[in-house]
Amino acid sequence: DDNGVPGRVRVAVRLRPRNEEEMVADADFADCVELLPEVKRLKLRKNNWDSDTYEFDEVLTEFASQKRVYEVVAKPVVESVMDGYNGTVMAYGQTGTGKTYTLGRLGEEDTSARGIMVRAMEDILVDVSQETDSVSVSYLQLYMETIQDLLDPTNDNISIVEDPKSGDVSLPGATLVEIRNQKSFVELLRLGEAHRFAANTKLNTESSRSHAILMVHVKRSVKGRDSIFSSETGNNPHMAKSLKPPTVCKGKLVVVDLAGSERIDKSGSGGHTLEEAKSINLSLSALGKCINALAENSTHVPIRDSKLTRLLRDSFGGTARTSLVITIGPSPRHRGETASTIMFGQRAM
Ligand code: ADP
Ligand code: MG
Repeated sequence: DDNGVPGRVRVAVRLRPRNEEEMVADADFADCVELLPEVKRLKLRKNNWDSDTYEFDEVLTEFASQKRVYEVVAKPVVESVMDGYNGTVMAYGQTGTGKTYTLGRLGEEDTSARGIMVRAMEDILVDVSQETDSVSVSYLQLYMETIQDLLDPTNDNISIVEDPKSGDVSLPGATLVEIRNQKSFVELLRLGEAHRFAANTKLNTESSRSHAILMVHVKRSVKGRDSIFSSETGNNPHMAKSLKPPTVCKGKLVVVDLAGSERIDKSGSGGHTLEEAKSINLSLSALGKCINALAENSTHVPIRDSKLTRLLRDSFGGTARTSLVITIGPSPRHRGETASTIMFGQRAM
C-alpha cells in the first residue's frame, strides 16, 4: 500500500446520500452511480444496462462515517505534517455534494459529525505538548484571483511571496493565530465562516464560487534518542543543549474547500459575471493541470498559472503529501456533473 507516499495524489471518492427532495422526485430512478467499496471501484451508469467502471484509492459510500473519512483521506497527511513535511487535503465536486460537510463541519453538539479540519487539529494538538512547540493558523478565501483574510475582513488583498531558492510560500499579510486548544480553534473557524458570509454578501456572490483555505503551521522540537542526555545532565539544560540540540521540525497542512466544480454559465445569466465564471474555471483548471502533471511525473508543473496553485506550491508534489476527496451525489439528474467530477479524480491518479 502506498498510503501517504509523497509526490503522488491519493484520490478518494465520497458519495453523499440522497436528500429528501431527491428521494421524492427521483423515487422511480436508480442512482447514477454504484459503489463497490471492497474492490475500491465505482460504476457510473451509462444507461439501464451498461456502465463504466473506475478505480480509486478509496471508495466511501453514503454510509461512511466522518471518522472513517478522516482516517482514510486526511490522517496520513496530518501524520506527515507532524514529521515536518507539508501536505494538502482538498475537496473537489459540484456544489451540494458534501465538500464542506466533509472538511468543515464543526460538530459541536454531535462530535461524531466533526469534519476533517476539526479532527486534524485534534490530532495535531495531542502531539504538540512542549512549551517550545507551536500551532498557528491562517484562514483565507480566494475569490476572483484575490486572497482575503477570513480572520480580518479589512485585509482583503493578501499577496503571495515565494522564496526563489527554497520554493517556500508565505503570506506575510495574513493573520496568523496561535492555537492552544480545540475550543479556540472551533471558535476561529466559526468566526472565519461568519466573515466569509459577510464578505460574499458584500461582493454579491456565493461561497460556492470561492475557495476556502485553512493553513496550519506546526512547529515541534523532536527529542528522539537524545533523551538519555537530558536525564544525565539533570537540571542543567544548557549542557543538554550543547550535547545535542533538539531537532526543530516544521510542517504545514493546507486544507482547501474548493469552489463548486459545476460548469458555470458563461453568459452571465446565472447571477454571476463573465469575469467570475472565467476566474473559477481558471483556478480549477490550473489545479487540474498541476495534478495531472504530478500524476504523469512530468517535469513541468504549471504552478504559476493561478493564485490557487501558487499558494499550494510548497504543499504539493515533491516531498509533500496530497490527498484529494472528490464528492458526488447520487441523483441521475446530475449525471453529467458527476461524470466530470469522476474524470477529474481519475486524471489525478
Ligand atoms: P458543498 O460544500 O459541496 O456545496 P455541502 O457540504 O454544503 O456541499 O452539502 C450539501 C448538503 O448535503 C448539506 O445539507 C449537507 O448536510 C448534506 N450532506 C453532504 N454530505 C453528506 C453526507 N455524507 N451525509 C449526509 N448529508 C450530507
Ligand atoms: Mg460548501
